[in-house]
Amino acid sequence: MSETTASLYVHIPWCLSRCPYCDFNTYAAREWPEEAYADALVGELTWYAARPPFREATIATVFFGGGTPSLFRPATIERILSAVRDAFPVAAELEVTLEANPGTIDRDRFTGLRSVGVNRLSLGIQTFHPRLLEALGRRHSVEESRAALAAAREAGFDNLSLDLMYAVPTQTQAELEADLTEAVAFAPEHVSAYALIYEPGTPLTRDLEAGRIQRVSEDVEAEMFETVGAHLASAGYARYEVSNYARPGREARHNQAYWRGGPYLGLGAGAHSYAPEAAPMAADASHGVRWQNVRDPARYRTAVARDGHGVGEHERLTRTQAMGEFCWLALREARGLSAADFQARFGAPLVEAFPHVAALRDEGLVEPGDDRLALTRKGLLLADSIFASFF
Ligand code: SF4
Repeated sequence: MSETTASLYVHIPWCLSRCPYCDFNTYAAREWPEEAYADALVGELTWYAARPPFREATIATVFFGGGTPSLFRPATIERILSAVRDAFPVAAELEVTLEANPGTIDRDRFTGLRSVGVNRLSLGIQTFHPRLLEALGRRHSVEESRAALAAAREAGFDNLSLDLMYAVPTQTQAELEADLTEAVAFAPEHVSAYALIYEPGTPLTRDLEAGRIQRVSEDVEAEMFETVGAHLASAGYARYEVSNYARPGREARHNQAYWRGGPYLGLGAGAHSYAPEAAPMAADASHGVRWQNVRDPARYRTAVARDGHGVGEHERLTRTQAMGEFCWLALREARGLSAADFQARFGAPLVEAFPHVAALRDEGLVEPGDDRLALTRKGLLLADSIFASFF
């Protein structure tokens, strides 16, 4: 592959319960086939390591996402990381992130994870208000969130990301301010703050449709978005992507690789992968391939045992799709979309491929920087429709 580095995503699809807004590939469970699932992950990893395009790749980042990866024992995470190191060259500064939910993890487990090579934690805090945790159907308490943050630091994690959610039904601006104040008091290196999304088919969306809850108005959501940005900026966190904020140098390298069109290999049930050129399931692709594993964990294990991989569906990108994806992903980042990079990658001027860029500029939705177009404040509030204009 033209890129020499790749990112690795490992999906752990179990949670202790299912949050009503969640549409991820997750399953509520009290027990899970940890060993057998790890066998499949390692098998799949080994299969890709023997084939182009990942055969030539150096792994720069590993991200254990879910689901709730903190349910897995550190010994299992170690086994997977050892397999990664055996199968691939890894970057000297390998970033290894693991998502953890309060209430599933104590200091010993944090210490264990740190000792097996996890060097970045993403903690699903969401809010420090019990009433809002309940509205979100989160099973952990505020005390468990505070304990998890303290325990992570005691275990030696010096790269913590904290997830917050806003625009929750009945949430007030004062509650959001208080959440931000408490989040900043823990001095995480990184904060992700997402507006609550009503995904089709989720219990929360059914509640909305039945009138049992009311969503906050668009104006309030926009105000909350501004509040998040202003509060975190004043505490020294720069917005480097629509919903992500970091202290200097603490941006999530794994996510940056996605936004920059880098190759990523997703292992596990329902995981997504992308290669900007051909891949084993589409050797004739010329504008990139993306694929998704079968979603059901048992079927995924069966597929890996039978085929060596868990691929369910794949899609060859057309040139138009590849160009559009390059643009909207780049516009997610505060540094924006480089017309020169676009031309170098696709051999065509950006304004020829997407003439509506001029209109976006005239409407004040994007602004030119040093050879880059970035979303303005007005553009950030309309980000999703601007991204869709490149599809
Ligand atoms: S903890 Fe996260 S992944 Fe699990 S159900 Fe809740 S939102 Fe979904």
